[in-house]
Amino acid sequence: MSDKENYRQLAQHVTTAIVVHSEGRIILANKSCAMLLGAENPEELVGKSIDEFIHEDKKKGKLNKIFVRADGKIRELEILEIPYILQGKEAFQWLISDNKKKNAKSDFLANVSHDLRTPLNSILGFSELLRQKSAGELNRKQERYIENIHASSKFLLELINNILDLSKIEAGKVDLTYEKFNVAKAINDVIVLIKVKSSRSQNIILKKDFDPELEFIEGDRQRFKQILFNLLGNAMKFSKEGKGIVTIRTKKVGNMAQISIEDTGIGIKKEDIKKIFTKFQQVGCDLSRKNRGTGLGLAISEELVKLHGGKIWVETEYGVGTTFTFMLPLEKKKT
Ligand code: ADP
Repeated sequence: MSDKENYRQLAQHVTTAIVVHSEGRIILANKSCAMLLGAENPEELVGKSIDEFIHEDKKKGKLNKIFVRADGKIRELEILEIPYILQGKEAFQWLISDNKKKNAKSDFLANVSHDLRTPLNSILGFSELLRQKSAGELNRKQERYIENIHASSKFLLELINNILDLSKIEAGKVDLTYEKFNVAKAINDVIVLIKVKSSRSQNIILKKDFDPELEFIEGDRQRFKQILFNLLGNAMKFSKEGKGIVTIRTKKVGNMAQISIEDTGIGIKKEDIKKIFTKFQQVGCDLSRKNRGTGLGLAISEELVKLHGGKIWVETEYGVGTTFTFMLPLEKKKT
């Protein structure tokens, strides 16, 4: 039996949906694939254009998922693409999986998060009222307890908001709202916000080094600010006790905008670098624990940068400092 025939036999017996195409035409599909694409049998698919099964959104390069048309219905499927050379021509093997389960998880999370937010806002609101002594004087113990309730509920709300946000992004339910915005202005807005929110901002020198060549980006302004808020917040949070310099740089690099946030903080150990963009990962030391965050900021930032068609990376030296840099296209890709 030839290798090709061997492969064909094997492909027909696995439960993973497999389709192989070259020069835009399907040359092999297995039974699972036929089922998933709504075809009677695999042979029916052979010779057809692969484009017939891809929804417009995928052609626009949206996320990693594709939408496949089966019996006129649109279904969200996930593709693992393995390129190879077949008889001297470029070919692609697609392993297709149904990510309905994943979406069900995201929907569940979205619902639960919503149900949790409502009572939590009430706890937060009423503890705020008590804290402001609008219901009367408090003794020291009561004051301490209320501070605790307030801080914990604020943290929990942030956690829930982040989980909700990330689950929406992961489910492909977040659409960017593109507009042309002034980069320096957006950064300055975030700096104002950070100064109000971060208790450490008084002890930290904030420097700006903006490229005059970089004026505008076409992107989602709110999401841009969210990324920057996360990175700048971390730079402040992980500065060394009582001192630190944080530098924000912008630079136009070809048709990309490059933004970097450098700190002179605690740095990240080499072995921890891989972990930090992963959900719920907080690495290292007491400082991270003391300034507990949700461990979702970098995961969300990375997703948002990718959604824009950009990239994000980190350079760091343990004990010396860290620089996070992200690049975004200056203009939205024409589709
Ligand atoms: P959070 O800050 O809420 O814990 P993030 O996803 O933003 O979550 O960051 C994940 C982890 O990466 C942090 O807990 C910290 O250990 C590390 N980290 C992020 N930014 C910095 C930084 N500027 N300097 C040192 N460590 C950092």
